[in-house]
Amino acid sequence: MNGHVTPRAARILLRLAVCAACLTSARAVRAATPDDCHAFRKHGHRAEAQKCYESLTTARDPYLRAEGFWGLEMYQDANNQFRMATNASPANAVIRVRWGRLMHERFNNTEADNLFNEALQRDPKNAQAYYGLALVSADGFDSKAIEYTSKAIELDPKMYEAHELMANLLLEDSDQAKAFDEADAALKLSPEALDAMAIHAAIEVLADRPPDAWLDKIRQVNSSYGEGYALVAYHLVLNRRYEDGIAYYRKAIEADPRLWSARSQLGINLMRLGQEDEPRKQLEMCYENEYRNEETVNSLRLLDSYKNFVTFKDGDTILRLNKKEAELLHPYFEAEMKRIIATYDKKYKMKLPGPVQVEVYPDHEDFAVRTMGMPGLGALGVTFGLVIAMDSPSGRPPGEFHWGSTLWHEMSHVYILTATNFRVPRWFTEGLAVHEETEVSPEWGDRITPDVLVAIRDKKLLPVAELDRGFIRPEYPNQVIVSYYQAGRICDYIKERWGADKLLDMVHSFAAHKDTPDVIRADLGMAPEEFDKLFLDWLDKDVGKTVANFDVWRAKLKDLAGQAKNKNYDQVLKEGEEARRLYPDYIYPANPYEFMADADLAKNDKTGAAAILTAYEKIGGHNPPALKQLATLEETQGKPADAAATLDRLNYIYPVDEDLHRHLGDLWFAQNNFKGAIREYNAVIALSPVDKASAQYNAARAYFAAGEKDKAEDHVLASLEIAPNYRPAQKLLLQLKDSNEGK
Ligand SMILES: [Zn+2]
Repeated sequence: MNGHVTPRAARILLRLAVCAACLTSARAVRAATPDDCHAFRKHGHRAEAQKCYESLTTARDPYLRAEGFWGLEMYQDANNQFRMATNASPANAVIRVRWGRLMHERFNNTEADNLFNEALQRDPKNAQAYYGLALVSADGFDSKAIEYTSKAIELDPKMYEAHELMANLLLEDSDQAKAFDEADAALKLSPEALDAMAIHAAIEVLADRPPDAWLDKIRQVNSSYGEGYALVAYHLVLNRRYEDGIAYYRKAIEADPRLWSARSQLGINLMRLGQEDEPRKQLEMCYENEYRNEETVNSLRLLDSYKNFVTFKDGDTILRLNKKEAELLHPYFEAEMKRIIATYDKKYKMKLPGPVQVEVYPDHEDFAVRTMGMPGLGALGVTFGLVIAMDSPSGRPPGEFHWGSTLWHEMSHVYILTATNFRVPRWFTEGLAVHEETEVSPEWGDRITPDVLVAIRDKKLLPVAELDRGFIRPEYPNQVIVSYYQAGRICDYIKERWGADKLLDMVHSFAAHKDTPDVIRADLGMAPEEFDKLFLDWLDKDVGKTVANFDVWRAKLKDLAGQAKNKNYDQVLKEGEEARRLYPDYIYPANPYEFMADADLAKNDKTGAAAILTAYEKIGGHNPPALKQLATLEETQGKPADAAATLDRLNYIYPVDEDLHRHLGDLWFAQNNFKGAIREYNAVIALSPVDKASAQYNAARAYFAAGEKDKAEDHVLASLEIAPNYRPAQKLLLQLKDSNEGK
């Protein structure tokens, strides 16, 4: 007789909510099974679990040894034993599934995915293999996660873990009601479904109700189950409630100090709120304990890179820039932050509780670390409470990125997240942020893209009540982009029909914790379904024609590109005009505007070229060479003010351009805009030009003209230090002296 509890006995004991494994603990564990050991662990009996896993490591069967080493966190040994076990039993699916789970736990999703698929080749009805695939997909917010989980449930309806995972996925999608039901389904199958309890707790916390009853239930089963708190924390962070999430991650590591995943997330989220010392401590602890997933490693690397950054504090703004571009970007970014704060204070009728911190990353990879493990694009900028991280214009190809739009977008999040105490659905805060981009200037923001046109044509827009799903778990490529567009247009529509104050009313309704259907009913006075219909009608009036033209346009554009290549200029002008009419918002690569301007110029029609490029500029064209071309044409047409305005637009797109600043400085200097000229000439200096003497001299003469004699003198001396014989600078120095003596 040994200490092994038969599966039947175990089931009965489990039903009685008695810890089956605990009963075996008093007896010999010689013949313990992995399930016995897992049960010890599940109930928080760490020492017994340890003993149990140790006993497995001496088993004859390499698979049991693998489970033993895994339980002891000796991952490399476990991996070796799994390899041996699969070699010994190549047809066995279960071993591969377990090996896959180890790989998933150790951050190797590629291998995990392979192993689950190999298991399915051997046993196509293996529910655990589908569950494994679902775990891997869930990590990347892949819509397949739902599919795989459903499959696992279909194959094994009694697998409570699959119901728990489904509940988690549904809660990620903000489908509280269905998540609630799935969690209950898991609990019906196992009274010890701890993650189902945690999902219930998360639903309560997200709704600002006390979760204590559920947390107590978890503690009754396992008082050191940190994963439960971590799951709540995860959903809080997903809903942008960073402070609350951090509090729960703290509870998680308090319950289980060795829960490295939670400790790592604690560090990462503290970093997101602008902290450095504690995150470093927490992340280093994870790293030293072999918890080295991408997020942990990259976050530590990012912390190290902070030494390359310099911080500018000025009242309500904190600006963090990379040293190599700080001097150039500082004036532009800080001035824009101030302009935004002044605008939004009025517009949203509120003040922020503290300064806003904007971090600008020239290396996109550094910025990407900030958004790791988060759903959606996060492609250009991201907001965490009062902290914004964004790409630098220098980190992207010229013309691809409008940093001004991005900054207005992210700052809108700062206000709306603050105003609603982070209780706002994703679609609304994103929609409002997109809406704000074109509110600053109709030339800003993104124009409707071909992807979006196709989505509208194929009727793929989501009902407003379900729009959040399109951001979190896209079901087709580009659904996230489509959802941003849709949410933005919904806000455009609300403003147009009900007025801007209605948007603010909605902000306040969300703050009062109403959900989307309630807010639509309360503030817009209609059912969400009716709103969807009205919105689609309105949208159709705006873009319906373009949508209908899409296929014709595409063929036309292709032909146009060919004509341009063959230099058939008359044909280019004719077809370009047609293509432009079919889809005026198309300002992306290979657009009719630029083809036509080139044709005009080839025919020496400068007026025509200027006209088409002006149309391009007004509709939101961002390509720097095209806009610089326009500025040149405007200048030759005797419109220096227009030329300066065109070049100034480029400051919001790609300011890493010496020629731009020098030219704009000259234009403004000639127009007596000395303040503007000073900023531009200083930008030239910041770019370390080849001709440093003239750059310094230009700044000096602009300061002199603006009456700032001290600064003028500094710069003229700097110029003469570089080139002592530089005549214009010598002359200016004399002028400065004369004017000082004259006063
Ligand atoms: Zn956003």
